[in-house]
Amino acid sequence: MAREKRSPRELEALWKEKDMSQGRTVDTMVVILRTRGCCWSKKGGCHMCGYNSASSPVVSSEDLMAQLQSAMDRYQNEPFVKIYTSGSFLDEQEIPLDVRDEAFRLFSGTERLLFESRPEFVNRETVAGLPGQVTVALGLESANDTILQESIHKGFSVADHRRAAQVLQDAGLGIRNYVLLKPPYLSERIAIRDALETIRFASPYSTEISVNPLNVQRGTVVERLWKRAEYRPPWIWSLMKVMEEGWTEGGPRIMSSPSGGGTARGVHNCGSCDQDLLKAIERFSFNQDVGELQGHDCDCRGTWERTMEAETALGTSVDLDRGLKNDLAV
Ligand code: SF4
Ligand SMILES: [Zn+2]
Repeated sequence: MAREKRSPRELEALWKEKDMSQGRTVDTMVVILRTRGCCWSKKGGCHMCGYNSASSPVVSSEDLMAQLQSAMDRYQNEPFVKIYTSGSFLDEQEIPLDVRDEAFRLFSGTERLLFESRPEFVNRETVAGLPGQVTVALGLESANDTILQESIHKGFSVADHRRAAQVLQDAGLGIRNYVLLKPPYLSERIAIRDALETIRFASPYSTEISVNPLNVQRGTVVERLWKRAEYRPPWIWSLMKVMEEGWTEGGPRIMSSPSGGGTARGVHNCGSCDQDLLKAIERFSFNQDVGELQGHDCDCRGTWERTMEAETALGTSVDLDRGLKNDLAV
């Protein structure tokens, strides 16, 4: 594949989009660095994550510096820059300190700078060196430890996440929390309930919450389940319900930018209503007007409701009060 032949000095990807900074929609540059990859993916990784394919075992500091420079070459003074690594920006094994400092130097003029990290790399020491415009995105996924460990295989607990968030909060930095909608082994109804409980848990300490409906990535546990028809990505109706009921006046911004939306691997409905609903979700993500999520209908809405009833009747789901009902071995 062409991917294997690419130079480690080349960025994985770079694109421009819109996001929000200081309460307004702004031009945003998204940079995906090609790194050694997520430390957790080398220990099995999360069940839905295929990001290991975006990494390379032989990326040096010099390679990463070259990648940053090529990002800088395409930078047009966007106020918001997001630097993703398909792992943890604060993991020194992935982003050495000199590269981290160079990224901060190059993008010191931005209004907002966002990167992702697992909680184990967030501590008083790492946070002390971060510029004030930083937002750290944390993949909380679920505020339920059983789901976090058994269903997602996340490798940290809710308490680990909360500790990291507290450190960021104390430092006055922004926090974008990710909530995973429909981890494997959960029925649609339980998935909705879990996402809503996670939003409620994370709201008091979130600058914003991104609801990420699971999309089926290649080479993952979830893909194996999906190919055996044992997993269906969430319905768009579910995503809309979570966003509508999770949003609160005066609470954090609730947003979603679903990967693979409207496809078989991503959040989807019947096919005919998908694009209109995804556009409504996008509008809501910016204007936070819950009216955008209301008043929609399609024949498939009834199918969604009946699916949830059937799943509940069959009991093929996780019971949040009693743990996992099914054998999780795949
Ligand atoms: S989802 Fe995040 S933490 Fe989990 S394996 Fe992928 S990159 Fe690592
Ligand atoms: Zn439909």
